[in-house]
Amino acid sequence: MQLSDLKHLKIAVVGAGYGGAAAAKALSLLGADVDVYEQASRIREVGAGIGLRPATMHRFREWGIADAIAGVSSPSDFFEILTATAEPITKEAWPAFGELTRTHLIHRGDFIDALLGVLPEGMVHLGHRLESVQDKGDRSVLTFAGGRTVEADLVVGADGIRSVVRSQLFSDQGPVFSGEHAYRTVISVDDAHGMVTDDNLRMYIGRGTKVYLLPLRHRNQVSFDITALCPDGTWAPRVTKDDLLATVEGFDERLVNITRDLDMDTVNIRAVHDIDPVGTWHSDSVVLVGDAAHSMLHHQGQGANSAIEDAGALADALRRADSPKEALALYQTTRKPVTDELQRISRQGWTEEEIADVFPGQKPATTAPKE
Ligand SMILES: Cc1cc2nc3c(=O)[nH]c(=O)nc-3n(C[C@H](O)[C@H](O)[C@H](O)COP(=O)(O)OP(=O)(O)OC[C@H]3O[C@@H](n4cnc5c(N)ncnc54)[C@H](O)[C@@H]3O)c2cc1C
Repeated sequence: MQLSDLKHLKIAVVGAGYGGAAAAKALSLLGADVDVYEQASRIREVGAGIGLRPATMHRFREWGIADAIAGVSSPSDFFEILTATAEPITKEAWPAFGELTRTHLIHRGDFIDALLGVLPEGMVHLGHRLESVQDKGDRSVLTFAGGRTVEADLVVGADGIRSVVRSQLFSDQGPVFSGEHAYRTVISVDDAHGMVTDDNLRMYIGRGTKVYLLPLRHRNQVSFDITALCPDGTWAPRVTKDDLLATVEGFDERLVNITRDLDMDTVNIRAVHDIDPVGTWHSDSVVLVGDAAHSMLHHQGQGANSAIEDAGALADALRRADSPKEALALYQTTRKPVTDELQRISRQGWTEEEIADVFPGQKPATTAPKE
């Protein structure tokens, strides 16, 4: 689209998570008139770390925000997988993107702060919970709790795994329980019993449990995450320290000690869900990005990275196509085959035997979450 047309494009982004914030940055750099509507009255993220891949860092360079991200993250050269008792299994360099070879390890809170921090003042409207979206062809109308309405030429649904935009326009299929729990927290390196010796991500695998240690050197901290098979699909399950200790039984004594020392008030506990691939992500004036489009399990560490790539691909498509309608089709053609595959392989986190141990005679429940 011509720059003059893009300048007149009014875009409403629903959700100020990674996908929404990145879309707002990429689309505002095109010159479009962007507003972001977020249900929360304050932005908060889970206390945990994630890795920003080289391809993601490339987008940040393109948007001129790589320094803002690098300033609150630590570069890592490789990812290592070890047995529960810390015998090495594999060590792999991160997949390079051009000359970029390192993954940046970052605290989720720092990441969202950095992304929102590069948006112009006043672009993000907190306390706006979307209730409905009406697709009127070449424009759409959003209605928020309290009755405020907003009309836009393009609505970007970046409202996460339980997306209202997706459920009202594209798919009424809810999240699918994966049969596993994630227990996540951030601790001081000083409390890591000597397990953190460099800046690289390590995963220890035992039967039905994976323990991730993701160093956040710039904070002198490490993200300590346990993912364990568990049949309880309650969205925010109740779990005790003893439950956590049971998941790491037989693991390296240092990992058991870290678990024993955890302050349970700091541990984020979630039953893990994804969604089945959604057939269509867009109409002529509404499009999905991030988890709203393709929530995936975290075994490949690609959910947030994919949300950033979506934002870049959407901006590229708007620049290349002749109209928003054409651009949205081009965006889906570019991104959906990639995320369909990531959704598929991210579901391959466990062996048949591990699943059979926890779910004897049955597959993990695949149902919408119980609140
Ligand atoms: C245990 C676990 C570990 C993970 N590890 C990794 C990892 O290592 N690497 C990685 O890349 N990804 C990882 N992910 C995935 C990653 O967290 C998600 O893919 C990412 O957060 C998706 O970003 P998003 O912006 O699409 O959605 P979200 O982060 O869910 O943001 C959606 C936003 O929309 C807002 N919203 C929702 N509904 C409404 C509404 N009705 N009106 C207005 N606003 C609304 C929400 O409040 C929220 O701010 C992990 C996920 C889990 C569960």
